Amino acid sequence: MTDFKNDLFDFEIAHLKWLSYEWSTKPTAFILLSDFKNAPKEVIKTELAPGINVSFMILNDKYCIGYPDTDDNLIPCETTTRVTLGNQCRECIDKDILSKCTYCTGDCVNSGALEYCKTTPHLVYLAAFTKDFIKVGTTSEKRAETRLLEQGANYARIIARTPSQGLAKQIEEYIKTTFSVLDKRNKRIKEESLGLGFQTSDFTSMLDEKITEIKKKSSKFSEFFIKDIQEFDFYSRYATLLMADGATRISFQRAEKSKELKVEGRLVCPKGDFLVLNNNGIISAVNLSSKVGNLLSNGATKSKQLNLL
Ligand SMILES: [Zn+2]
Ligand SMILES: [Zn+2]
Repeated sequence: MTDFKNDLFDFEIAHLKWLSYEWSTKPTAFILLSDFKNAPKEVIKTELAPGINVSFMILNDKYCIGYPDTDDNLIPCETTTRVTLGNQCRECIDKDILSKCTYCTGDCVNSGALEYCKTTPHLVYLAAFTKDFIKVGTTSEKRAETRLLEQGANYARIIARTPSQGLAKQIEEYIKTTFSVLDKRNKRIKEESLGLGFQTSDFTSMLDEKITEIKKKSSKFSEFFIKDIQEFDFYSRYATLLMADGATRISFQRAEKSKELKVEGRLVCPKGDFLVLNNNGIISAVNLSSKVGNLLSNGATKSKQLNLL
């Protein structure tokens, strides 16, 4: 059995603040952490590069992560407040302007985001996750790849480009209600979309059909639909990494209620919410984005009683 040393952080307790994605030749994810005991407001960004070793425990103890500004920078919480529900304190929720528009349909009265909403070019995309699941969504133009990678989409196409977020939200709502395309994924879809077992053509033929239908029946928004195909094929990149590890069967690691969760192994790849790990030949996935805000203790041994405060 291999013991894994932890390449992600070398201090005792880390505060998991965010997972972020950037586009390069491979799906590249980053983990944003802070040294909880010594510098809780200083954000450290480390690449989740395939091949690194990870070894930590996710503790059942959660603190406010702060909030993102309109340029997508994470602003740390002033007070590092302990939280139980969600991962933000009351003050940071109030300052998190854009999150208030997550589920709006382009006609809300979120005064803090009104200027952003009216002036920031947006895209409407359709993303394929499994052989029979398509999701519709909107993103600012400059965040498109990041947004799709964050969600772990296998394949996506941009269908419309709008001069404002409000208009993109209206098109999203229209597609959702008129063509029965969902705008959320449930746990089953998240897990099913993770493994091998797809062909890129599964996704392209499904999207071809849906996009043709939408364009044919949507004269109301036709000026915003883009003519050329702008596609993102993430699946073949993930598949290469998964196949290199023989990751044909992925098991899911879930924390029992109020229990710590051990995360240990060599990183096969990050994908959306998950880290896929190889621990002595056993391939497993852990949903790390659901643990944003939690503390992580270095090394995958059960923590002693921690004296944090
Ligand atoms: Zn806060
Ligand atoms: Zn809004």
